[in-house]
Amino acid sequence: MREAGNTDNLSQSLLRSKELKKDTLSFLEHVKSLPDMEKQVAKRKRKILEVLDGTEEDWVNWKWQLRNRIKDSVVLAKIIGLSDLDKKRIDKVGKLYRWAISPYYLSLLTEDFQSSPIYRQAIPDIRELAPGGSLDPMNEATTSPAPCVTRRYPDRMIINVTNQCAMYCRHCQRRRNIGEVDQHACLEDIGAAIDYVAQNKEIRDVLITGGDALMLSNQTLEFILDKLHNISHVEIKRIGTRIPVTMPQRITPELVDIIRKYPPIFINTQFNHPLEVTPEAKLACDRLAEGGVVLGNQAVLLRGINDEPFVMRKLCQELLKIRVRPYYIFHAKNVQGTCHFQTSIAQGLNIMESLRGHTSGLAIPTFIVNAPGGLGKIPIMPNYIQKIQKDKVFLRTWEGKIIQIENR
Ligand SMILES: *Cc1c(COP(=O)(O)O)cnc(C)c1O
Ligand code: SF4
Repeated sequence: MREAGNTDNLSQSLLRSKELKKDTLSFLEHVKSLPDMEKQVAKRKRKILEVLDGTEEDWVNWKWQLRNRIKDSVVLAKIIGLSDLDKKRIDKVGKLYRWAISPYYLSLLTEDFQSSPIYRQAIPDIRELAPGGSLDPMNEATTSPAPCVTRRYPDRMIINVTNQCAMYCRHCQRRRNIGEVDQHACLEDIGAAIDYVAQNKEIRDVLITGGDALMLSNQTLEFILDKLHNISHVEIKRIGTRIPVTMPQRITPELVDIIRKYPPIFINTQFNHPLEVTPEAKLACDRLAEGGVVLGNQAVLLRGINDEPFVMRKLCQELLKIRVRPYYIFHAKNVQGTCHFQTSIAQGLNIMESLRGHTSGLAIPTFIVNAPGGLGKIPIMPNYIQKIQKDKVFLRTWEGKIIQIENR
């Protein structure tokens, strides 16, 4: 009797494994179709170094990367080849919305570059001039009780330390803050923001961001971290930066030695596509992780870039490999100049549905819609609740089976 039961269990388990294996097949097929980037990147990098007259040594130096950002369509055309019309369009958009790309980020362009997720995030697009969208959908202007401060929550707040970034992302959701000229907040304003933290004891979590917080000099960054570290009610510090994606060379051992001194520090970055998870990005994240930083990712759901279930799954899995935990996926807001990136909420839900159960829970971020008017983040999820009755609850599994449990 018992024996028979076991054989039965075993054959059922084998059948089930077969079914589960099948679930991953189409994903694995998709992954195989991703371009092998190594050779393409090496070739592009050689070309960039040739045009910019740089050396391998320059390449790993973030100051060189920053100084040599590409922000001129003529230089860009020399590197990747562009039609006159393309150049004209880039110039036209660039007059309204600045652009700048680190040589490193540009090197990640695939060969068929105009459909590349790298190109779409970095290079001005004529659709940015389409009418519509709001300049400040988050109403940040009215949630700032002190210089550089954005406060929308009871126990945590943001200090905006700079409007500078290594790259000016075409989809930037904070375009309003990213002004005409590169500029860090002045020390006086930063000091006033820190005073605000010190005077408000309920603030236990301070997020240093911008722009890109790691555009600050080591010295200024240390000044801020040290001040916050010495406020006893500040339990955690966070840094918002896209540097591990756009200019990973900035994560130097010297920077990490500073960060290491002020734990606990959480860094949230913004990888949007698996092609951005490169050996350089891995090195940067390894250094940060070894410096005691807890790393998270806040992707933006972007049409034509990552609004496909398999792309997002691959991205989230690649992130875990470099010790970055997917934290949020943001629904793209209605920001002027970025509306062509917007997706439907339904597509976001579809992606969330395609993750849960199909891959590690660790690889599954929370899908967030930002409430207009600065009213905060709203998590949204596919609905797994079918029906709630007084004595019973009907739920849906990740595979769509309806189950019932007692409600008590
Ligand atoms: C997003 C945000 C935070 C952090 O929110 P978490 O959900 O805790 O990550 C804090 N302050 C402001 C103003 C924000 O927009
Ligand atoms: S790094 Fe962030 S703040 Fe800067 S342009 Fe990109 S999305 Fe905007």
